[in-house]
Amino acid sequence: QAKALGEKVSYFHQDMNLAIEHKKQLTKALNLAVADNQLKLFYQPKVLPDTGDIVGFEALIRWQHEEFGYISPAEFIPLAEETGLIEPLGEWIILEAARQAGEWVKLGYTELKVAVNLSPKQFISARLAQVISESIENSGIQPSNLELEITESMLMENVESAILVMEQFSRQGINISLDDFGTGYSSLSYLKRFPIHTLKIDRSFVAQLASDNDDAKIVATIITMAHTLGLKVVAEGVETKEQMLFLQGRRCDQLQGYYFSRPVSALEATELLNRSFSN
Ligand code: C2E
Ligand code: CA
Ligand code: CA
Ligand code: CA
Repeated sequence: QAKALGEKVSYFHQDMNLAIEHKKQLTKALNLAVADNQLKLFYQPKVLPDTGDIVGFEALIRWQHEEFGYISPAEFIPLAEETGLIEPLGEWIILEAARQAGEWVKLGYTELKVAVNLSPKQFISARLAQVISESIENSGIQPSNLELEITESMLMENVESAILVMEQFSRQGINISLDDFGTGYSSLSYLKRFPIHTLKIDRSFVAQLASDNDDAKIVATIITMAHTLGLKVVAEGVETKEQMLFLQGRRCDQLQGYYFSRPVSALEATELLNRSFSN
């Protein structure tokens, strides 16, 4: 018994050492990747349910490492947060997304919105407002061409100052989306106090729409509630026709998911745009 436990403990240490070693390697690689411009932004369309027109894109970061292969942002964004690398990386994301939005505006898509995910550290950074203003000036877009996706948990640590930050962007004309809605501490009472424009229903609810009656009710209720509060609703993770039809029937404002398109390169996104409006 004792020996078995001892073995377990030593395996545990081994695993931990491996995990620490892995993290060190990844941190080093990430620093190099940022310095070396190895990271790219991909874009996933947000479409109108009735026409299929693309009204916006969510920018999602991609990292293809020569040796390690594809590394998910779900893995390296938290690491960038931890190590402080999120500051330069986050700035690059905003500047690059705005630059690309500027390209699309120049092509005539003047109403398009490009959404950027903000990480918690970025949201409370004193430089954020300046970086966003810079990105708008440099790219020649309107503030309304830019959208910020934030999560509930980012707002809950310091509600009052979060509201001030959001109001500042909102006054400028930048839209704010509450991402992963329904997964956080449901702060329904805050919803009316946050100066947000859009709720994004988390894909965990969308996934079971057709098979789980409770999820269907939850989604329908979120849409109704959002509309009552004057908010737009985007459903993420739409993968099937059934899900699409359900959400369309419930008057969900915008849909996003593999059913329409995976996140794609800027070049492919431009092709999707041209096709979306040519019919
Ligand atoms: P998120 O903001 O909730 O992004 C949505 C995720 O769902 C993306 O994963 C997207 O590729 C994926 N997705 C879209 N449609 C579907 C679908 O139909 N089915 C399924 N199963 N998945 C779908 P991704 O790109 O791996 O990003 C994961 C998370 O990493 C994001 O979640 C976001 O929290 C973070 N992230 C990604 N890019 C950035 C970024 O540029 N900055 C920051 N701060 N975070 C980012
Ligand atoms: Ca998002
Ligand atoms: Ca989301
Ligand atoms: Ca999510």
